[in-house]
Amino acid sequence: MIGIATGTKDRTTMKSLCILGATGSIGSNALDIISQFPDRFTVCALTAKSRVDLLARQIVRFSPQLAAVIDAAHADRLQALLPDDVDVEIVHGEDGYVAAATCEGADMVLGAMVGAAGLVPTLAAIDAGKDIALANKETLVMAGAIVMQRIVERGVKLMPVDSEHSAIFQSMAGQGANGIRDILLTASGGPFLNRPLSAFDTITPEEALRHPNWAMGSKITIDSATLMNKGLEVIEARWLFDIDFNQIKVVVHPQSIVHSMVTYADGAVIAQMGVPDMKGAIAYGLSHPHRLPLDLPAPDFAQIGQLTFAEPDLKRFPCLALAYRAGQQGGTWPAVLNAANEVAVAAFLDHRLAYTDIYRTIDQTLNRHTRQNGADLEHIIAADRWARETADGLIRQQER
Ligand code: NAD
Ligand code: MG
Repeated sequence: MIGIATGTKDRTTMKSLCILGATGSIGSNALDIISQFPDRFTVCALTAKSRVDLLARQIVRFSPQLAAVIDAAHADRLQALLPDDVDVEIVHGEDGYVAAATCEGADMVLGAMVGAAGLVPTLAAIDAGKDIALANKETLVMAGAIVMQRIVERGVKLMPVDSEHSAIFQSMAGQGANGIRDILLTASGGPFLNRPLSAFDTITPEEALRHPNWAMGSKITIDSATLMNKGLEVIEARWLFDIDFNQIKVVVHPQSIVHSMVTYADGAVIAQMGVPDMKGAIAYGLSHPHRLPLDLPAPDFAQIGQLTFAEPDLKRFPCLALAYRAGQQGGTWPAVLNAANEVAVAAFLDHRLAYTDIYRTIDQTLNRHTRQNGADLEHIIAADRWARETADGLIRQQER
C-alpha cells in the first residue's frame, strides 16, 4: 500500500483504544461499535472538549484509565459528575490530550477531534508507537508530510476513517501500488447543489446544517455545504495515498452510495459502496483486516434505482478550487487554508459572517500569507496561529 504503512505489530486479538474526541459524532459512533464487540476492544482513554455530562456517562460505561478535557474548570466539573467508585485519572489541556494519546497500554488511537487541535496529540501517539485510525483530516491537511514521515519511521499503521479514503483504501486492496491512473473522490454536493447561485448570499447556518445524507458535527457539515470538506479530503488523499494532485478527481454523486473509486491503468474502475453511515468506515478502521458483523444494511439497489455523477461546479463551490490551489502550493499554505476556514466557519455558525464570505475570508487570508516551503512543525503551528488572527481581523473589519 502506498503512503499508508501497514504497521509491524500483530494486533489481531483484543485491542485497547484511546478515542480523541469521544463525545463527537465519530467518537460516539465508535463507542457504539466498541460496545457491540466487548471481546475485541477495551477503552484506555477518552477525551472531549467541554461536553462533560456525556463524557461522564461514557467513562462510567467504558471504564477508561484516563480522561482529558479542555481546561481545569471542565476537569473539576467532570470529576464532580462521576460516582465515587469510578477510578479514572482526569487531566486537561494539550498536555492532557497528549497523555491520553500516549496512554500506556493503548494499541490504537482514534483521531476524532475536530480541527487543528488534533495535530499535536496525533503526532504524540505516532511517536509513542500507537497505530492510528484517523478521522481528523485537518491533521493531514496541516502537516501531511510530517505525519506520513513519522508513520513510516515508527512503523505504525495508519487507517483512514474518512469514508472516501476508507473506500479508496478498500478499492486498492490486493492491487498493490502499481497501475493507478487516478482516484475519484465522490461528493454528495451538500444541501446547495441545486440552489440558485443568486440565493447563496442569504444562506443561513440552519439551512447549511441540514445535510441531505450524513449526520455529522457542525464544522464538517458546513464544510460539506461549501465543498471545502472535499477540498480538505483532496489534500488528505494526496498524503494518505502518496499521489499527485492531478491524479485526484472529484465527482458529485448526490446519492452517497459510491463512497469513492480508483481507476487503474487499463481503464478498470473499482468502487466501494455502502449506505451513508460512518459506522462502516469507523469499524473497518478499528478492526482491519477483519470485517466486523455490523447491523448495517447493504444498499438496496433496486429501491435506489439510479446512481448519478456530475462535475463539481466551481463557481458554486469556489472553496474546492481554493483547496486544490493551497494543496499544490504546499508548504504552510494548507495549514493557512485550514485555519482560516475554521475561523470563518465558526463566525458563520455564530451568524457573524455571510455564507459567501467564508470563501472570501479564506482567499484573502491566503493572499496575505508568505508561504514557507518544507515547513517544520513549529512553522506550521505558527502559520496556523497567524491565519487565525488574520482571518479573525478580516471578519471584524467587515463587522464594523
Ligand atoms: P464533532 O464536532 O461531532 O466532534 C468533535 C469532537 O472533538 C468532540 O468530542 C469535541 O469535544 C472534540 N473537540 C472539539 N474541539 C476540540 C478542541 N479544541 N480540543 C479538544 N477536543 C475538541 O465532530 P465530528 O463530526 O465527529 O468530526 C470529527 C473529525 O472527523 C473531524 O475532523 C471531521 O472532519 C472528521 N470526519 C467526520 C465525519 C462525520 O461523519 N462526522 C466523517 C468523516 C470525517
Ligand atoms: Mg468524507
